Amino acid sequence: MSGLDPETKMQFLFALRSKGVTDARVLSVIESIDRGPFTRGIFAQRAYEDMPLPIACGQTISQPSVVGIMTQALQVNPRDKVLEVGTGSGYQAAILSKLARRVYTVDRHARLVREAREIFESLHLPNITAITADGSHGLPEQAPFDRIIVTAAAEDPPGPLLAQLRIGGIMVVPVGQSDTVQTLIRVRRTETGYEYDELRPVRFVPLLEGLGKEG
Ligand code: SAH
Repeated sequence: MSGLDPETKMQFLFALRSKGVTDARVLSVIESIDRGPFTRGIFAQRAYEDMPLPIACGQTISQPSVVGIMTQALQVNPRDKVLEVGTGSGYQAAILSKLARRVYTVDRHARLVREAREIFESLHLPNITAITADGSHGLPEQAPFDRIIVTAAAEDPPGPLLAQLRIGGIMVVPVGQSDTVQTLIRVRRTETGYEYDELRPVRFVPLLEGLGKEG
């Protein structure tokens, strides 16, 4: 956000704080990553409004305050290996890459993955690997993960993702029907099972099976 005028930047960060993004590390990472390149065309001028915006393939880049709340709920440590399901624009993955050792991000749309990769390269974010895959199966070849974030709504936390979470790990996932308000859930894996807590209402596009057709 370096090229931004100070007033827009201050208002943006103020909006995030007032919606519950209070973690200083998360706020400073959000401050350091320009949301502009992750938006497209006419929407770029709205990059600093706290709103979801349309991207390619009928998908959306999440609302910044929701990105902030999910990121702080994930409690990422610098040595963590993180899996994100739902690359979309790549914005959430870019934020995570500044907090974690390694980020794997998967999307069912090859086009979104391709475009996100280009942005990661241009922003010099070498610790992100973006892969075209159906993320409801997780990424078995890189499991287990310290943290998993799902940015599309599932009716239940997908079993393969629960299985690929390391003991002591945390997963954040919106749960519920796609056409209604969903609940953001945090799952912690313990030695003996899983603990769940409900964080807040959210609205995400659905987690769909299989790969997207439009390439
Ligand atoms: N995190 C993104 C926003 C995600 S929008 C950002 O920061 O911009 C949700 C994304 O989830 C969409 O791009 C959609 O294609 C993807 N998605 C839906 N179901 C999926 C699945 N089964 N596997 C992988 N990605 C999926």
